[in-house]
Amino acid sequence: MLEINATETVREGSVFGQITTMDHEQLVICHDQPTGLKALIGIHNTVLGPALGGTRMWPYATEEEAITDVLRLSRGMTFKNALAGLNLGGGKAVIIGDPKQKNEAFLRRFGRFVESLGGRYVTAEDVNMKTSDMEYIAMETRHVTGLPQIKGGAGDPSPVTAFGVYMGMKAAAKKAFGSDSLQGKKIGVQGVGQVGKYLIDYLVKEGAEILITDIFEDKLKEVAKSSGATVVDPNVIYDLPMDIYAPCALGATINDQTIDRLKCAVIAGGANNQLKDEAKHGKILMDKGVIYAPDFLINAGGVINVGAEYYGDYHEETVFAQAQKIYDTCLTILDKSQKENIPAQQAAIEAAKARIEAIGRLKLPF
Ligand code: NAD
Repeated sequence: MLEINATETVREGSVFGQITTMDHEQLVICHDQPTGLKALIGIHNTVLGPALGGTRMWPYATEEEAITDVLRLSRGMTFKNALAGLNLGGGKAVIIGDPKQKNEAFLRRFGRFVESLGGRYVTAEDVNMKTSDMEYIAMETRHVTGLPQIKGGAGDPSPVTAFGVYMGMKAAAKKAFGSDSLQGKKIGVQGVGQVGKYLIDYLVKEGAEILITDIFEDKLKEVAKSSGATVVDPNVIYDLPMDIYAPCALGATINDQTIDRLKCAVIAGGANNQLKDEAKHGKILMDKGVIYAPDFLINAGGVINVGAEYYGDYHEETVFAQAQKIYDTCLTILDKSQKENIPAQQAAIEAAKARIEAIGRLKLPF
């Protein structure tokens, strides 16, 4: 017999322990036997509006890993959407499994779970999900965005994400080097996927010296050929001296194993949750004098794009203009970090919370 002990609900590391610490509103467990769908939807905060954040599909080794990921990612979306000035709350979904499992029935079943939340959560694409997958989800729910352009959507958000990252990188460069020009700067881009490759286009135009790495050699060769970038091994990127390190692969690449190896003045990239331990690693970077452009602040271009689509108010120029504001916001946050002697990540979270509190007329515990 299963016994539920009320005191268990706040045990550190337990599900309720985690959602209490991070102050989530809701965690939804979705299961469908016929399709094999196993998904989690995290709704962190809906004060500013519906919780919008993409769906990631990943073969998580354990349930705990998937829960921690969806909770961290959905919390990050709350801050990202708030700082980007959007009237959207923070949410995220993860589907546990091999992306090869995806088919129409599987994705439509997931769409029905999204629909069951009545608009409290709005989904979009994230790692291992494509705009074409959103089409199947859209057959079951209106609460999906990031549809292909031929279906009336705004298409792939990555170009706008990359532009925002570029803006954030320039702002961080201004803070670190006194000028936002990236000409001649040695920049290491980790991950040449959708965001990385568009970012590289901007860096090429500025005349940066670019190092690239990825775990897919074919992709690397293709990008090296078109950009003239130098290819480096994925394991040595952390050891190479460079002006700017741009993580554009997966999260948590700034961790106990890598942080002392990094030899850069600035970190600015598109990946979510770059700091494995936000408080600890954020503080170490500050103490080392590394200018860190908070990930959720500078990679908000994508959500700006899908948010405009969701609200039926999509204009490409307006979306890029909004993503351009990331430059000023990033400078403001880096100034706050310096003035108050707090890590940039903390400064960004405080600014996001201040907006949510002002609009919601409340005091947030997280
Ligand atoms: P993607 O899957 O297209 O690209 C990721 C790339 O990283 C792939 O080429 C992959 O091979 C590579 N990679 C994975 N592990 C690696 C490793 N250990 N070393 C080097 N390379 C590695 O994904 P994307 O859409 O470009 O997104 C990249 C990151 O940016 C993700 O963390 C994503 O959550 C975040 N992000 C993306 C968007 C967007 O609009 N696409 C928006 C916000 C945040």
